[in-house]
Formats: sequence, structure tokens, C-alpha cells
Amino acid sequence: MTTRVVVLGAGYAGCAAVTELEDEASDDLEIVWISEDDYHLLLHEVHRTIRDPAVESSVAIPVAEIKDETTEFREGRVVGVDTDARAVELEDGERVDYDYLIVAIGSATADFGIEGVDEHAHYVKSLEATRRIHEEIRAAADGASWEEPARVVVGGGGMSGVQVAGEVAELRDRLEEPIDVTVVEGLDDVLPKGDPSARESVRRHLTDRGVTIRTGSFVTRVDDDHVYVDEGATELAYDVLIWTGGIAGHEEAANVGVAREGRSGRIHAGTDLRTDDDRVFAVGDAALVEQGEDRYAPPTSQAAWGAAEVAARNVLHDLRDEPLESYHHVDKGTAISVGDDTVVYDVIGLPFETIEGVAGRTLKRAIAARWIVSVSSLRTAVRAWGDM
Ligand SMILES: Cc1cc2nc3c(=O)[nH]c(=O)nc-3n(C[C@H](O)[C@H](O)[C@H](O)COP(=O)(O)OP(=O)(O)OC[C@H]3O[C@@H](n4cnc5c(N)ncnc54)[C@H](O)[C@@H]3O)c2cc1C
Repeated sequence: MTTRVVVLGAGYAGCAAVTELEDEASDDLEIVWISEDDYHLLLHEVHRTIRDPAVESSVAIPVAEIKDETTEFREGRVVGVDTDARAVELEDGERVDYDYLIVAIGSATADFGIEGVDEHAHYVKSLEATRRIHEEIRAAADGASWEEPARVVVGGGGMSGVQVAGEVAELRDRLEEPIDVTVVEGLDDVLPKGDPSARESVRRHLTDRGVTIRTGSFVTRVDDDHVYVDEGATELAYDVLIWTGGIAGHEEAANVGVAREGRSGRIHAGTDLRTDDDRVFAVGDAALVEQGEDRYAPPTSQAAWGAAEVAARNVLHDLRDEPLESYHHVDKGTAISVGDDTVVYDVIGLPFETIEGVAGRTLKRAIAARWIVSVSSLRTAVRAWGDM
């Protein structure tokens, strides 16, 4: 009898789950892969396309290059899961039955309920979004002067926010147009969760590029041309607002029919990546993966990759009545770009806290290349090398 495993999402977690299933499975396993686009977007490099939309071909890998011929891919938006009937519901009304399900649909950007953010800001989650950001910045710069520059405000100074700000500054330098870039972060420094020496380096690279950094400034409201910070005491005018905030579960995660964490709306998964439904596993940003009491795996591509491989193997273990594996996240290090500069920190096995310059850039490219080779091919990785 054939067992059907359905994987939802073509991000790091979805790709890793599918390739691991393909590597480990036998003939009696049918793999169905569903995602809203027929390509894998390297989300952790998507900010590169703000500077130059031509980079899109390096950050989007067709699923056909990733999956085996025997894996069936269906392009479609998932709107819910009927866990009683074990069926995935798609936007076009189609239902896809499963025996096991791996949910890897990523996350939405959290607006923390701040009035006006959802209505006026761009999120950096798709190529459509970065294309619009690129075009709007160019349009704003067209009507600007050195006395009255175009104003781009980036909300959030975490990993996404600082990389986005670096790319906007790079675009400004390429266009040689008057564009002011400001990062607004509510906590006391950029990269609030990062290593202190990396924080200092990122801050220096941003300020060297003329990016204004406002920390300790919580955004309380946004309207169509201002961001209000410090309880409304300060108004920042903007032409383009990019919101990186934090992450939250997608609306669709509420319709998956498994337990979620109340505040973030992300699906709750144990260390074995199982949800409260034995046949449903959840991985990547979509899931809050337990790592001990009140500790969870971070929302990073690295964690998505590692957890998804374990989830895929656990589906097979369950099928074979074997004990399930646990996923224990070990941070292998972080690589952050600020335009053409790179800050790499906490890399396991290296005696330096922070690596920058050519060594940092090469290391960051190597990390991206390793991922691309693992899901696609060396040729694709070589082609993308210069854009990472
Ligand atoms: C600008 C930016 C910079 C970042 N930089 C870094 C970094 O330097 N290092 C790092 O480790 N992490 C970084 N991250 C975070 C990292 O990208 C995420 O942690 C990672 O993408 C999570 O992988 P995932 O597979 O869970 O989700 P995703 O990569 O978001 O993939 C989700 C997939 O599900 C699909 N999908 C979503 N909803 C549906 C639906 N309803 N129906 C069907 N398909 C759906 C999507 O199209 C996508 O294919 C960055 C993120 C951003 C936005």
C-alpha cells in the first residue's frame, strides 16, 4: 500500500523536507509538494533584489530543478487543512488527501497591531514586494532634490531590517540620487538579538553608508506620509516605508486545525516536530519548535533546514514504527550583509567573534552556495555566487 506524504511550502523547510524524503524513501511512498509559486525563493537573500531586480534569477530556483521526477508538484495556495478527513484545502477548491503532512508555509510579517502599518508599509517577503519597493524608491527619487531628498524609512533593525537598509543605501549610490535612509528600532540597538561585536560592526557599516539609525524609538502609528515614534512625540516623514518588524503565523495557519501559540499564531511543534495531531508535522518559520522549557528554535533558514530534515525522517520513522528523532538546534553562526559589506559572527569552529571584509563575504557566499548545492546543483550555485 502506498503512503502519501504532502509537503506544504517551497521555502528552506519545504525544500529540505522534500529532498530528505526523496533521499530516504522507498517505492511505497508518494510525495506531493504544494506551494503557491513554482519556485524556491531564497528569502534570506531577497533583499538583494531591492538594489537590482536582475538578481531575481539568482534568488529564485524553479522547483523542477529541485525535486525528483517522481515527486508531484502542485502550484496552489493552501487555505486550510481538514485534519479529520486528512485533506489539504486549496484556494481553487481542490482537496488533496494525505497520510502525513509537513507544514512549511513560513510566516507573515508581524505588524504588532500598530495602526497603519499593514495599510501603508511594504513587507519584504516576496519578489513582487521587492520589485514594488525598487520602483517606488526610484519614483520618489525622481521627484526629489538634494534639498528635499526622497525618504525611505525601514521599520525594525533586526536581521532583515539592517540588510534591507544596506540594500536601499546601495541602490541610492547606484542611482546617484538624493535618498535619505532611516532605520527605526524600538529596542536599544540594531540586531537586538545579535552578538555585541556584530551589532557594533553592523551599526558602523550602516552609518558609514549614511544610514540614520534611531534606536529606542517604538513606532506607535503610521499614516500615509508619516511614521509616529516615541508615543507620537516625533514624526518621521516618509515616501517609502518598509516594515520588517518580527514574524507571526500566516492567516492560513489558523485553518490547519492544530494547536498554535496564542501570541504569535505560529503552529506549536515538539522537539520531534510533531504537532498535537500525530499525522501533522510543522517546521520552519511556520512553527514554534520546542527546545526545552520556554525555549524555541530561532526563525532562521538554518533552523528551518535542520528541523525539516528531522521532520521528514520522523515521518518515515513513524511509518516504520521506529522511535522519532529530536531536533536540537545548534547555531552554526550568522552572516549578515550591509550592502556589499558582510558581518559574520559566532561561527562554530572559528576563533574569531566577527569576520568582515573579503573573508566575511566569501564565507557568506559559501553558506548560500552550500544550500543551493544541497537542493539544486553546483552550476546553479556558481551562477548565483556573485549575487550573494
Ligand atoms: C529580508 C530577510 C532577510 C533574512 N536574512 C536572514 C539571514 O541572513 N539568515 C537567516 O538564517 N535567516 C534570514 N532570514 C529569515 C529566513 O529567510 C527565514 O527564517 C526562512 O525563510 C524560513 O524558511 P521557511 O521555509 O520556514 O519559510 P519561507 O522561506 O518563508 O517559505 C515559505 C514557503 O511557503 C509558501 N507559502 C506560504 N503560504 C502559503 C500558502 N498559503 N499556500 C501555499 N504556499 C504557501 C511560500 O511561497 C514559500 O515557498 C531573513 C528573512 C528576510 C525576510
